[in-house]
Amino acid sequence: MLTQIKGLHHVTSMASGAQSNNDFFTKVLGLRRVKKTVNFDAPDVYHLYYGDETGTPGTVMTYFPFPRAARGRPGTGEVATTAFSVPLGALPWWKERLTTFDVKGLKDETRFGETRLGFDGPDGDSFALVETDGDARTPWTGNGVSADVAIRGFQSTDMRLRDVGASSELLRFMGYETLETRDNVTRLHIPGGNAANVIDLTQVSAPPAAQGAGSVHHVAFAVEDRARQLEVRKALMDTGYQVTPVIDRDYFWAIYFRTPGGVLFEVATNEPGFDRDEDTAHLGQALKLPTQHEHLRDQLVSRYLERIHD
Ligand code: ZN
Repeated sequence: MLTQIKGLHHVTSMASGAQSNNDFFTKVLGLRRVKKTVNFDAPDVYHLYYGDETGTPGTVMTYFPFPRAARGRPGTGEVATTAFSVPLGALPWWKERLTTFDVKGLKDETRFGETRLGFDGPDGDSFALVETDGDARTPWTGNGVSADVAIRGFQSTDMRLRDVGASSELLRFMGYETLETRDNVTRLHIPGGNAANVIDLTQVSAPPAAQGAGSVHHVAFAVEDRARQLEVRKALMDTGYQVTPVIDRDYFWAIYFRTPGGVLFEVATNEPGFDRDEDTAHLGQALKLPTQHEHLRDQLVSRYLERIHD
């Protein structure tokens, strides 16, 4: 069993528009945009990152906005719901705020004794706010969201699967422990992990998901550094997983592999971080391009990347 993985690093989804996506995460949820760059593998599409002040691993929701992309169709083999942690007692405030912003899909829920508020993102993305006791992370504040209610980062993701057995086994190999199963949901966590150390596996018999706007593209797990990432890569490959080589994403190094349940997993390093190429005070403001795409800047800005008004 691996001990290098500490919980979630980031969750990456697809959107249909950059402006609506930006507005939802910054002006409604009150997160900070910590990076405005492009999809390194398809640079005509933005890659937008939202999180706490510095984009601490375990707080970072990221998006590829494909203009006018069709919505995904929810199903099995995907990350269903991404849950953010908020302080105890914060949900009534959030319910009023999300109602004011005409956010869809609001629903009061209880899961494993926790009080949650489910809601939809701008493309029908499935989210929840979860009241969490003692989450000591310092939140980003502003846009009318004060520290007593602000999002602390991720609490968990929920994968929807036809059969949770193989994915559960994989997660336990990655360092997770099974906490509890209720009805069709199994909860796992990493002891001693970061504050985003929970994964729920929901077993349902439904057709496979079709990815599109509002779908999670992949979920990334955090390791401290490149040495630990190589240890994880070797262990996964020795177990039979097909893992990509280490890829430089400028703000972290990444490896990817497909899970038995169909979900794309990434293992990403906590180093070097989002302040690698801009000051913490100005994170996310300028369009940052990786060296290999810098020569495309004028073309990308004039033809492909919609201007985002903050
Ligand atoms: Zn990623």
